[in-house]
Amino acid sequence: MRIGIDLGGTKTEGVVLGPDGEELARRRYRTPSAQGYEAILQNIASLVFELADTVTGDFTVGVCTPGALSQSSGTLKNSNTGCMTGKPVQQDLERVLDRPVRLENDANCFALAEALDGAGQDAECVFGIIMGTGVGGGITIGQRLLSGRHHIAGEWGHNILESDGPPCYCGRKGCVETFLSGPGLAGDYARRGGEDGLDAIEVAARATAGDPVAATTLDSFLTRFGRALAVIINVLDPDVVILGGGLSNIDRLYLDGPARVARHVFNEDFHTPILQNQHGDSAGVRGAAQLWPDPD
Ligand SMILES: [Zn+2]
Repeated sequence: MRIGIDLGGTKTEGVVLGPDGEELARRRYRTPSAQGYEAILQNIASLVFELADTVTGDFTVGVCTPGALSQSSGTLKNSNTGCMTGKPVQQDLERVLDRPVRLENDANCFALAEALDGAGQDAECVFGIIMGTGVGGGITIGQRLLSGRHHIAGEWGHNILESDGPPCYCGRKGCVETFLSGPGLAGDYARRGGEDGLDAIEVAARATAGDPVAATTLDSFLTRFGRALAVIINVLDPDVVILGGGLSNIDRLYLDGPARVARHVFNEDFHTPILQNQHGDSAGVRGAAQLWPDPD
């Protein structure tokens, strides 16, 4: 059996997958972020052992988390849960669980889950995108993750899209993430004179309802999506692009997105499918479990 854990800032979710990828059990715990790093590790251990009690036989553990393991130090970087950053999370989990653990960032787990038995299951090369609080990406080739030399393969969210754009937490300005994330879209709406404090889905709904500022904002968002994604198409030329995260619910991305990408692709036509994910919020936790190969 394969246990997958999705460690988020507010909740920690776990599943047990059977041999054919079927979900045998699922539990959700609150993440004790305020209590610090050791409490988060113990919380994961409790969740793993509770899930393990639901199955017979041995099990593997895969963990999905924002951020990535540094190739050089083995510590977690770019995590959105402050107390996790700089910690050797994988090593420490192996210690508390007393077994090997595989750990990957959330966008990679998303891409893997969708490539194995989701929207990209028939594709040789998948580019999986998470557009939510941040923007991430993961690449699979032949249903295996491509990590890259620095373990950053697919991290298109911090390519600079507009050098005079808003500041990004990474220290640069105008990264893809500052425009194509939820806060990026909502912030752009506010900068254009729209109401402050809305979320991205509300801005998209207002555009549909005829709010002219929202319509202009969404149009720019789609143009930026096209320009940013065309860079990936020109370099990787994946067989399919799969969208996840809250913004993947904006239907204009599928209706108008391909034409916007086509403007910037180095080819006379563009017919890469841009698809919505099939696993929804479960992609991360499923991908985490699937970091280990199917036991048969
Ligand atoms: Zn950035």
